[in-house]
Amino acid sequence: MKKSPCVRFAPSPTGKLHLGGARTALFNWLYAKHNGGNFFLRIEDTDTERSKQEYTDQILNSLEWLGLKWSEPLIYQSKRNLIYKEEVQKLLDNGRAYRCFLTKEELQVAREKAKKEGGEFRAPKIYRDLSLDDQKGLINSGQSFTIRLKIPSKGSTFFEDKIYGKINVNNKEIDDFIIVRSNGSPTYNFTVVVDDNNMGINYVIRGEDHISNTPKQILIYSALNYPVPDFAHLPLILGSDKKRLSKRHGAASVEDFREQGYSVDALLNYIVMLGWNSGSEDELFSLEDLISKFDINKIQKKGAVYDEKKLHWVAGQHMIRKSEKNLLNEIREDDPNWQKHSKDTYIFSVLKLMKIRAKTLNELKEACAYFFSDPKDFDENAIIKRWKDKSVNKLINNFITSLEKLSNWSQKDLDESLRDTAQEMAVSAAKLIHPVRLAVSGQSHGPGLFELIELLGKMTTLRRLRKGLDIFPLKR
Ligand code: GLU
Repeated sequence: MKKSPCVRFAPSPTGKLHLGGARTALFNWLYAKHNGGNFFLRIEDTDTERSKQEYTDQILNSLEWLGLKWSEPLIYQSKRNLIYKEEVQKLLDNGRAYRCFLTKEELQVAREKAKKEGGEFRAPKIYRDLSLDDQKGLINSGQSFTIRLKIPSKGSTFFEDKIYGKINVNNKEIDDFIIVRSNGSPTYNFTVVVDDNNMGINYVIRGEDHISNTPKQILIYSALNYPVPDFAHLPLILGSDKKRLSKRHGAASVEDFREQGYSVDALLNYIVMLGWNSGSEDELFSLEDLISKFDINKIQKKGAVYDEKKLHWVAGQHMIRKSEKNLLNEIREDDPNWQKHSKDTYIFSVLKLMKIRAKTLNELKEACAYFFSDPKDFDENAIIKRWKDKSVNKLINNFITSLEKLSNWSQKDLDESLRDTAQEMAVSAAKLIHPVRLAVSGQSHGPGLFELIELLGKMTTLRRLRKGLDIFPLKR
């Protein structure tokens, strides 16, 4: 019987959670969800100089915000030294690893020699088969040592990567690498294998930058007699110039995306597109869709390109599809008092009208602002172009008079009233539409004018138009 899938995300807390890490976490999480397995989290904080608690906190917060819940227990490598020690001892006992007493200087000499001769550097194997007594002698004389894995001199190590296919490395190409440093701390390749085995991980899904580590890790699995998990390495994420994605491409941390007001479902939908597609034309997915459709075999090998325009499109589409109620809930999650003094029904109408114009919650809030308070700033170009001189005040005055008489404040009647006024004054409707929009919203573009003033209501519209009469045209 096949064991239920057990996967993990294993970030090093040396920086914030970025797009690449978020994608690795998401793919692992989706894989677990789709297959009814477990998704674990392991903080790889053995590098005490570069690891920082604030980064761990940021990573955990970002994952929580994304909704990628992990199964307990949450593992910290820094708390597992005893386990690593025990496993190293097993390797020393079964002869698959050895203490290497080479000094820094000796290694340097060997390195220079290899360079001169044009060959690959290999740590001299002087200590590989030293007797236990001789080892004790050296230890007692105070000589420091590292522990190296004994790589079989023949044969090759291979694995079938789910995404990259068969990967085969001749053992000759792998040096007896260090698994424990001279200060006693275990190295990355070793701790990863011990932990993955100990946590029951049977599928390792991670960035392709770890492909070259995998044969080394497989040699550790086999030296410790552990079952080897399956592997899938995710393609690099590239910037628009096809170079490895970095901050320079405008790619932000998950925290930054959150601060910019992207909603979680839009961001997850975009992230999943970085290397995966459903095999159909569909590009927009809810989280439920993703869980049911996610298939690791559909991840592509070629680098995924981060495309901000696409992110904006996905975000805009999610915005349009979301109910006004959900939008309000999302906004209030971060900003609990947002428009608390307005009626929900009014807020919903505003959101409905404005959501097609925004891709982030911040933009949406900003776009909605003039529905809740009179505009203070007015588009300068629009003032210059649309409210040039006093002739506009005359038009607006007449429109106000006509609006005051209006018994039915409906789009249709507003539209008629404006057109009648324009006709009476022998100007085109546009001559009136633009300054009206400017006075009521401060802007030169936006939703249909009649929808806009219908929603603003009579009192607000008239107040803003009268204010327009006071301040425009600008005095020179
Ligand atoms: N800690 C490693 C990293 O952040 C990942 C290790 C792994 O997934 O095996 O790159």
